Amino acid sequence: MTAPGEIVHTGAAEYPGLDRWRDLPLKQQPHWQDHPDFDSAYAKLSANPPLVFAGEVDKLKRRLAKVAQGEAFLLQGGDCAETFSDITADKISAKVKTLLQMAVVLTYGAALPVVKMGRMAGQYAKPRSSDSETRGEVTLPSFRGEIVNGFDFTAESRLPDPKRMVEAYHKAASTLNLIRAFTEGGFADLRAVQQWNKGFMENPAHAKYERIAGEIDRAVRFMSACGVEFEGLKRTEFYSAHEALLLDYERALTRIDSRTGKPYVTSGHFVWIGERTRDLDGAHVDYLSRVRNPIGVKLGPSTTPETVLALIEKLDPTREPGRLTFITRMGAANIRQKLPPLVEAVRDAQAKVVWVTDPMHGNTITAKNGYKTRRFDDVMDEVRGFFQVHQAAGTYPGGLHVEMTGDDVAECLGGSDVIDESAFNSRYESLVDPRLNHKQSLEMAFLVAEALTQVK
Ligand code: PEP
Ligand code: MN
Repeated sequence: MTAPGEIVHTGAAEYPGLDRWRDLPLKQQPHWQDHPDFDSAYAKLSANPPLVFAGEVDKLKRRLAKVAQGEAFLLQGGDCAETFSDITADKISAKVKTLLQMAVVLTYGAALPVVKMGRMAGQYAKPRSSDSETRGEVTLPSFRGEIVNGFDFTAESRLPDPKRMVEAYHKAASTLNLIRAFTEGGFADLRAVQQWNKGFMENPAHAKYERIAGEIDRAVRFMSACGVEFEGLKRTEFYSAHEALLLDYERALTRIDSRTGKPYVTSGHFVWIGERTRDLDGAHVDYLSRVRNPIGVKLGPSTTPETVLALIEKLDPTREPGRLTFITRMGAANIRQKLPPLVEAVRDAQAKVVWVTDPMHGNTITAKNGYKTRRFDDVMDEVRGFFQVHQAAGTYPGGLHVEMTGDDVAECLGGSDVIDESAFNSRYESLVDPRLNHKQSLEMAFLVAEALTQVK
């Protein structure tokens, strides 16, 4: 308990400036500080062990430095928003499996290491275009992700509940535990992953990828025939990432690293600032400027070169390799006009950032039957535009950021094994944005691998 007038909510980590964000414009948060359970939830989170460790976070930064230099490629993927009910062994393994499958194909295409990262174990908070939602006569607070409130359209469910942050922490811990077991315990063995990819190739719809699939298969068999048995084939590094939207959660899970004395967000290895909260003088940019993790910033079509340079100045003033990733989400129709000035400004300022394409968020449409969807062809067109822009500027297209799942859902239109709108009624599961399904995700990896072989 705190006495009146005492500073509360400071969390376990004390470090100069860490609470500056509380005095700055703060968007997209629930108003729950007066909730009777807020202080106890915050105190619990503050006392809990970190989910990730500073040493792992630093290692990821070194990996991302390689991406910035054009010596590795980054794959980020997962749900738009994880839901608590989908934290099951089957769903997590399907997602990790799909990301590993994609990574093998991309590794072959890029002939470079692929840094693998899930929008997982923390992707529970969502920015919304409106604070409230109206259905008929009823207006309720918008759904902000299960770390804040429930999706059901009732007053009780939509009421923000800080105890959900503690539940999210535990869900993230169990997700990470399974991911660590999978990726270090043999599940990630390259030869097994290649067998799964053969399953994908058995579908006649994917025959056009036969050449590249055959080449990967021969490469894997060649290594086996040579008796290559090194550990690198059996296990893989896999990092967690989410949007650092809910600053109460991020602040409570910030810890001071005992080796360096510096603050780290320990809710995930990599965190990013969303398109709606990247204001230069806002709370989110200030908070992430003070922690040592590698961080991302989403850049939409309204971004100017001045903003990009100011973001670099604020978030990466010492130009630390691997520190800053720009995730562009321009839309297929915009990318070829909007991205070049940004890429050129960063290049000319001699800043080294990682450039990643998110071909999902600029290509959302509403289907005739009312579902939020994306066309696979638009998504691929944005990816192609991203590669073209970087090729013309002489800069490196460093990675791919996708909303995907390992399951056979029907949320995005198209793909070779075509999904059309009629499938939405039975197989649309996302509560928020539409994801590529398992096959669409792998198909994208094959198409990007082809594009990468052309870049080389
Ligand atoms: C997201 O990644 O789910 C998201 C909301 O993206 P953006 O901030 O780019 O709109
Ligand atoms: Mn989304």
